[in-house]
Amino acid sequence: IEEALRQAQKMEAIGQLTGGIAHDFNNLLTIIRSSVDFLRRPSLPEERRLRYMDAVSDTVDRAAKLTGQLLAFARRQALKPETFQVGACLHEVADMLDTITGARIRVVVEVATVECFVRCDRSQFETALVNIAVNARDAMDGEGCLTLRLTGGLPMPGIRGHVGSRKAFAAVSLTDTGTGMPEEYLARIFEPFFTTKAVGKGTGLGLSQVFGFAKQSGGDVDVESTLGHGTTFTLYLPEVEAAAGAAITSPAPVEATHG
Ligand code: ADP
Repeated sequence: IEEALRQAQKMEAIGQLTGGIAHDFNNLLTIIRSSVDFLRRPSLPEERRLRYMDAVSDTVDRAAKLTGQLLAFARRQALKPETFQVGACLHEVADMLDTITGARIRVVVEVATVECFVRCDRSQFETALVNIAVNARDAMDGEGCLTLRLTGGLPMPGIRGHVGSRKAFAAVSLTDTGTGMPEEYLARIFEPFFTTKAVGKGTGLGLSQVFGFAKQSGGDVDVESTLGHGTTFTLYLPEVEAAAGAAITSPAPVEATHG
């Protein structure tokens, strides 16, 4: 009964929050509608015409991002598992993260286990890393260091009261030198729609994707944070043998700084 009650409360909360999202989405539609109305005016000066077109384009991007995250969260996207070498993937992702975080945030990759393979949806894995990195960037206020670390062959620790596992797991961690989080945030960050960001800036769905992806891939996600010092998110994914005939990239350097 307690569980049913919790579920009911959760559903009520989700109902309220999806109402909030619908409201945000409507605001975006209003911006598009009024911009297009302005654009129809034949007398509109060129400079303002460009500004309205930019507004439409930006707003469409924001709306697409919102629905994309909602869809990913609703798990309507079919997972496409593939076997890949985690270290090589991290180096590729780091290049992408470098452009997201900006010039004054250093992105460092440390691969302790080169021969480490996992089987999961690679694009969801990359999305999860990007979601974690975007939060890290926001917590660092323009300056700091983001370290991506891979260690293979680890047992999974017990997380959130669940027992761990002694199978071999790949541990992928992202450490930032940002603000850190207080206990009351830590307890809620994986909940859908939990955000401390300004309206229009955060959806509260980034870490829900990370959580859903980790669980669906047979792994888990852990977080450690110290106020004023920074935060480390660690994704645990079950290790697999390298797929026969799979392209194995040559061993990556143990440490590389991107950007
Ligand atoms: P969003 O980024 O849209 O707010 P998330 O689910 O990705 O949604 O994150 C939820 C909240 O967790 C953030 O609003 C922020 O308060 C907190 N958070 C997540 N990662 C970090 C981090 N690395 N440092 C500080 N706070 C964080």
